[in-house]
Amino acid sequence: MATRVLIVEDEEALATLLEYNLGQEKFDVTLASDGEEGILKIEENPPDVVILDWMLPKISGIEICRRIRSKPETRNIPIIMLTARSEEADRIRGLETGADDYLTKPFSTNELIARVRAVLRRIRPGLADDTVTCGDIRVDRVSHRVTRGEKEIHLGPTEFRLLDHLIQHPGRVFSREQLLNAVWGSDVFVEVRTVDVHIGRLRKALNKHKQGDPIRTVRSAGYALDTK
Ligand code: CA
Repeated sequence: MATRVLIVEDEEALATLLEYNLGQEKFDVTLASDGEEGILKIEENPPDVVILDWMLPKISGIEICRRIRSKPETRNIPIIMLTARSEEADRIRGLETGADDYLTKPFSTNELIARVRAVLRRIRPGLADDTVTCGDIRVDRVSHRVTRGEKEIHLGPTEFRLLDHLIQHPGRVFSREQLLNAVWGSDVFVEVRTVDVHIGRLRKALNKHKQGDPIRTVRSAGYALDTK
């Protein structure tokens, strides 16, 4: 099941941008455009994580934070506060009120997504993007199980890490050097051709039941995992 994120933000353009980007990362996103709506949505259907603007019409972010923390059924929901203020005092106040993390505007959506994953890992390890799917391929990062359709796929540790990296950015082409850095680490000396060997093994494993080759070789560029 997708992780449910509630964004309470009155700046419509920002809310829409975040909704789109988190949606691309397979989060199930709900928007609330003021504090009152935010509280209602939290009480109605508690989300897995709340992204909360500090300055909101009707009920402030700080107040929402306080209310989330005061109720047993919502107490443990991770909260990331957004604010235009950068003063240290506000930052501390936000964290004291119960926010788990804090981002000062403007921030990049990648930064926000990274923070969302980090709080989920920290607070609710069971929910932090444990499974990633692309087309009929499914990777469970906790049990290290990979399935394609109904069939279980057995991968070695390196092939698993390769697939795990590719599946997080479906359709994107990675050069052999990028894959080396992401999977083996930049401080390890490995021949670039090694990537080809492991891609070959991954490809063979994924296509064991003749469901089609999901890995695209881009001549002189690298590899990508396609969504079909
Ligand atoms: Ca605002």
